[in-house]
Amino acid sequence: LSDKLDKALHVLKGHGSITEVNVAETLKEVRRALLDADVNFKIAKEFTTKVKEKALGQNVLTALQPGQLMVKLVKDELTELMGGDAAGINLQGTPSIILMSGLQGSGKTTFSGKLANFLKTKKSKKPLLVACDVYRPAAINQLHVVGDQIGVEVYSEPENKNPVSIAQNAIAHAKSNGHNVVIIDTAGRLAVDEAMMAEIENVHKAIQPQETLFVVDSMTGQDAVNTAKAFNDRLNFDGVVLTKLDGDTRGGAAISIKSVVNKPIKFIGTGEKMDAIDVFYPSRMAERILGMGDVVSLVERAQEQFDEEEARKIQKKIAKNQFGFDDFLKQIQQVKKMGSMKDLVGMIPGAGKALKDVDIDDDAFKGIEAIIHSMTPIERSVPATIDASRKKRIAKGSGTSVQQVNQLMKQFDQMSKMMKMMQGGGGRKMMQMMGK
Ligand code: GDP
Ligand code: MG
Repeated sequence: LSDKLDKALHVLKGHGSITEVNVAETLKEVRRALLDADVNFKIAKEFTTKVKEKALGQNVLTALQPGQLMVKLVKDELTELMGGDAAGINLQGTPSIILMSGLQGSGKTTFSGKLANFLKTKKSKKPLLVACDVYRPAAINQLHVVGDQIGVEVYSEPENKNPVSIAQNAIAHAKSNGHNVVIIDTAGRLAVDEAMMAEIENVHKAIQPQETLFVVDSMTGQDAVNTAKAFNDRLNFDGVVLTKLDGDTRGGAAISIKSVVNKPIKFIGTGEKMDAIDVFYPSRMAERILGMGDVVSLVERAQEQFDEEEARKIQKKIAKNQFGFDDFLKQIQQVKKMGSMKDLVGMIPGAGKALKDVDIDDDAFKGIEAIIHSMTPIERSVPATIDASRKKRIAKGSGTSVQQVNQLMKQFDQMSKMMKMMQGGGGRKMMQMMGK
């Protein structure tokens, strides 16, 4: 989608002045791009008609920077189409009950864990996860594994085949154990069928959740819309969770679902790890779809993960020329905490597209870490001490080659220089470059 829109908008960006024909031509391209991304025909058409009206109403043709104004109109309209402002989640019950719904494989169990982790770490809640998938014992185990990983209690009754009573018992358990959020993971089928719908409807009626979330795989395109409609007809759910929105996944589903069921998208899943969850911001999604890169998210995540104290220490060291391999290792670990490399690269403007087909290995740092681990403390803090024979020893110890050690040392050298430069005021310049 981004590619096509980029192309469509490129026409306008480059021109100092545009004509009415130009606007129409561009919007035709925009519409085609939306259709390609599985956006419903009617929605795409309405969308371009609206943008055109606004463009003409705002005198795009006589504006100082018509291209930019046009891009802004398209972006604003896309944002509006996906819900305008970010929608919150209702946590008012005692406990607040959150029910997951969706097809098998959509990511319910994974998202249940992510949400529990999010509420625990960001909102200081004490969640309880509930396994209501009564058909597959493996599903119960999966939730327990997730719960262990994030340190959240999981309630299950492996012998009980009645999801309604499991859910009710779990809520009683939550009340007597001080849990203020109950997240109920349910069973899904591969396709919409009556048995599944009746079951989730029964659970829904019995427990009256504050939030019923519909979880959907964003890669399923137009099907996602039909499924959303089927679930919404039965559950009248409160919000949508779009999973598997990693890297360059198309945003078409986000646009269509909101328009068809008129429910806000509340969260997105961007990877398999427990911290790969983001609040859904329509404006950021619009920017992402338009190929501007999700810079805001990237910066926010970086701010969260980078320990400020640590950053200050490192800055001092750079200033004093004492930055060593130990610090380098720490930085790598910080970067790794931010999520998978593919996620991160996908958020950099332009890079997501350029690197779409490059397989970015999450273990890209493994060799580097091994090499640093094979250095002695002195070698780490004073890299200049590493001579040829030490290089040989390090290569042997880390299972790499002298060539790889050399390469790392060169990279390290360049990075140290770059960091010094960024401290000297070059940083702002770099950020500006990234912004473009
Ligand atoms: P459920 O059947 O609805 O409970 O789905 P699961 O939670 O078991 O997820 C199905 C598969 O999708 C698993 O392999 C998950 O690891 C994977 N998955 C879930 N969410 C995401 C996501 O946001 N990104 C990626 N890449 N994979 C995901
Ligand atoms: Mg599951």
